[in-house]
Amino acid sequence: KDGKVKEGNVLKVDSFLNHQMDIRLLDEIGKEFRRRFAGEKINKTFDHRGIRHRHRGGGSAAHLTIAGGLCKKEQVPKNLDGELYTAQVTSFTRGTTFDVQVSKKYLQPGDRVLIIDDFLAKGQALLGLLDIVAQSGAEAVGCGIVIEKGFQEGGKMLRERGVR
Ligand code: 5GP
Repeated sequence: KDGKVKEGNVLKVDSFLNHQMDIRLLDEIGKEFRRRFAGEKINKTFDHRGIRHRHRGGGSAAHLTIAGGLCKKEQVPKNLDGELYTAQVTSFTRGTTFDVQVSKKYLQPGDRVLIIDDFLAKGQALLGLLDIVAQSGAEAVGCGIVIEKGFQEGGKMLRERGVR
């Protein structure tokens, strides 16, 4: 009811998810992720922007959450010190390519990670995040997505690769 369909297969959900946030909804999303991934011993969640579902959504599925840094290739954020894991992601909504970066301090072998995001479209964002988890030697337990746009190919591609 509240989502607005825009040109280019983009759905705007600013009124409850991306800008103004419906906290009760985010709580329910968090509960649902926890229910679906119950028993997986997840200790971290990971999302590439770090602001969306951090506290309410994915946050309740694990004790710690990692916010990936998004930046243009040449701009390493000053607040991400030490060595970094990096993956390139092409943004569906902007059409540009960014690096997602995570400090090596916070993602390590033995971590069991649930990746979370708001949308799944062509799957490029998740491929980038899965790549970072693989680089670190941690294990990606699966991906929790709020809105899968089923008419785009990302979900099929990821399921075929065995991603939960
Ligand atoms: P993908 O990498 O799967 O093609 O696209 C997923 C990413 O693009 C998500 O992180 C999300 O932020 C953004 N995105 C993709 N489709 C939409 C959409 O319809 N609406 C909004 N608001 N973001 C989208």
